[in-house]
Amino acid sequence: MFVCGPTVYDSVHLGHARTYLVYDILARYLKFKGFALQFIVNITDLDDKVFERAEEEGVEYKALAERYTQEFIKCLKSLNITSIDAFLKASKYIGEIEHQIEQLIEKGHAYQADGDVYFNTSSFPDYGKLSHQTPAELKLRRLDPDPKKRDQRDFQLWRSWSGRPPSFQSKFGQGRPGWHIEDTAISISTLGSGYDIHGGAIELVFPHHEAEIAQAESLTGRKPFVKYWVHTGLLVVDGEKMSKSFGNFVTLKDALETYGSDVLRLYLLSRHYSETFDFKMSDVKSFEKEITLIRRTVSRLKRLAESNEEEGNLRVEARFQRHVDSFFSAMDDDLDTPKAFDALMLLIKEVNNDMTGVDQDLLNTVLTMLSIIGLEPSSGD
Ligand SMILES: [Zn+2]
Repeated sequence: MFVCGPTVYDSVHLGHARTYLVYDILARYLKFKGFALQFIVNITDLDDKVFERAEEEGVEYKALAERYTQEFIKCLKSLNITSIDAFLKASKYIGEIEHQIEQLIEKGHAYQADGDVYFNTSSFPDYGKLSHQTPAELKLRRLDPDPKKRDQRDFQLWRSWSGRPPSFQSKFGQGRPGWHIEDTAISISTLGSGYDIHGGAIELVFPHHEAEIAQAESLTGRKPFVKYWVHTGLLVVDGEKMSKSFGNFVTLKDALETYGSDVLRLYLLSRHYSETFDFKMSDVKSFEKEITLIRRTVSRLKRLAESNEEEGNLRVEARFQRHVDSFFSAMDDDLDTPKAFDALMLLIKEVNNDMTGVDQDLLNTVLTMLSIIGLEPSSGD
């Protein structure tokens, strides 16, 4: 699984938290189901936003990118997002990027124009398929209008040096890579010529993911290069898109300090991953009650299960099992975490109301469900 990572020029915000949390749950669940999983997140450290911010602050872009990369990794860890196997920086793949662009030119999928290199979208008839856009519709969406493009749908693979550092020496001249090819260089060189799941926020579908498909399938000849595309919905704060200029920009660090990891996790999972999430400060606190109840019930369950050694029943008591079954069928149904969470809470309440018949099997079942959601109640005991 490959998930598009952040552009590291600023602090991680709640929108990022929601996105990576969703793929963390997906990874945890796939592993629980017995799949072997390699989960990669790229770090976009070669980008104008990074270069501009570094210039403003008078620091080297690498130092700035490193600072925000470390902050990103640390924040994810604090939110108990532990399933990512590697964070891979685009700047380490310049050689691979150059190699891929060269191959695309050779195969007739890319062309050079005055120091720039463009992907030739007319060489790839499926361009627009992921975002369900026809060639005519795509022509109307004039992204980055540029007289050097043969077709306005074409996108940049390599940009000639604008005069602002950094720049890299390549066979196409001095310059820097386009954003889309950075991800293809990382994914192909790490995961090979095809993989199962590609994720990212919904706003990346076009043009970013559309471009990644065009590049990867043109390079490898493998269709589909990615089997499943999974996109997370937008996160808005009190009804408005989160933005520094609106003054509603919530960093993950601040949110973690205010609410703690478990409460924040539960709250962010209370909407389906594909929906727009309207973050309301006033709603977060209500999840503290649930967390307290979970923690209290698990400690009581642990004490009782210890005194009841009987083990090895395949199923727990029926009044518990129906909630366990609903939890797993909700998870199987397109990762329906709100429903799964409801089932978990019904189970917790059922256990809490009447502890007769609880045993080690029930405890293990509850702990398994909690670990899929990424809650570790024992740490809060
Ligand atoms: Zn990406």
